[in-house]
Amino acid sequence: MVAVYLSIAGFILAFKLWLMARQHRYLSRQAIDSQFARQRLMVLLGSECWDTLFFALLVLYLPENWMGSGLIQSFLVCVAVLFVFSLTRWAICNVRLWQVAKANDLSQQSFADFIHISAKRLGSLLMWMVPCIFIVLLAGELGSNHIIALVVVALLGGQFIILPLFKTRLFSDLEEDRDYRLGKIPVYEDVETRQSKQANARAFGGGFASFIVYTTALKKLVSEQEFRAVLSHEKGHIVKAHHIKWVVLQSAIILISFYAFMGMNSFLNWGKGFDELLLIALVGLPLMDGLWMGLSNSVMRKFEYEADQVAAREVSAETFVSALEKIWGQNQTPHKDDALYAFFFSAHPTPDERVKRLLSKTTTTP
Ligand SMILES: [Zn+2]
Repeated sequence: MVAVYLSIAGFILAFKLWLMARQHRYLSRQAIDSQFARQRLMVLLGSECWDTLFFALLVLYLPENWMGSGLIQSFLVCVAVLFVFSLTRWAICNVRLWQVAKANDLSQQSFADFIHISAKRLGSLLMWMVPCIFIVLLAGELGSNHIIALVVVALLGGQFIILPLFKTRLFSDLEEDRDYRLGKIPVYEDVETRQSKQANARAFGGGFASFIVYTTALKKLVSEQEFRAVLSHEKGHIVKAHHIKWVVLQSAIILISFYAFMGMNSFLNWGKGFDELLLIALVGLPLMDGLWMGLSNSVMRKFEYEADQVAAREVSAETFVSALEKIWGQNQTPHKDDALYAFFFSAHPTPDERVKRLLSKTTTTP
């Protein structure tokens, strides 16, 4: 039984590694300097390997005696394992990303600041995860698989409604930029990014608690009109309800995965208790994600095109393209990726494709 789980995980990892090798070869052949993109790819590779290794250790050595003897004990074991998992993953990925950003002159953030900010973000993630684990375990004690599935989906959807309400905890230092408020949508500067040169903006929430966050480097980099175009793009994600559609899609994926996982388990008659299975499922989720990432990233790319059109309509396609070109230049983003890698891994369309669509659409609209 263990062999079946490990074979699936191994297959997914091998597939991801193959895609990454293609992308690495593709980037190495590009004329422009793609060192930063290649280094980031290696970080991703490290984290994928670590996820699989951790999953394998968990499946092989899950301490059965520690679990299943009561809600509280199972809860503590789940929390401890997840804490170790998130902490090691953070150390493997984020510390290396910080080094890479510094080496490529994309950040002046000191290690102390980096640790401080990361700890807060990791803390906010655990603040959400820990009560969720308790609720799911409680549902496992009380009810059937269907109840558990419903609870998992409710918690997943809930994070998009609840977390934006705690934005000061998510981002401990947000400063509202009242000059750029877009109707009901407030716009914040992420003060913690002041030492970073990476230009970026993101939309949060889906509905009443929506807001936009930008990095200091973005505002310094682009002109006022270009900045408005970027904000319009982010507003596009909010008005087109992309977060809500995303939750619906993710819920469907999780439900299918959950029933497949439980179905496979009863078919294989593994005989582990619900608590152990839940723990394996939680850690295995980033792995199993590999099966769905082509689908979910295709949807994400469609969202990007839709939001691009909002920016083109509200400001202008040319202004938005010129903002994007500056952002990609500053962030050392390659203009093209290996097609197969991009299909599975990229949540954003390649820059070339975006520019092509933006500029071709406007020639047909008045
Ligand atoms: Zn976007």
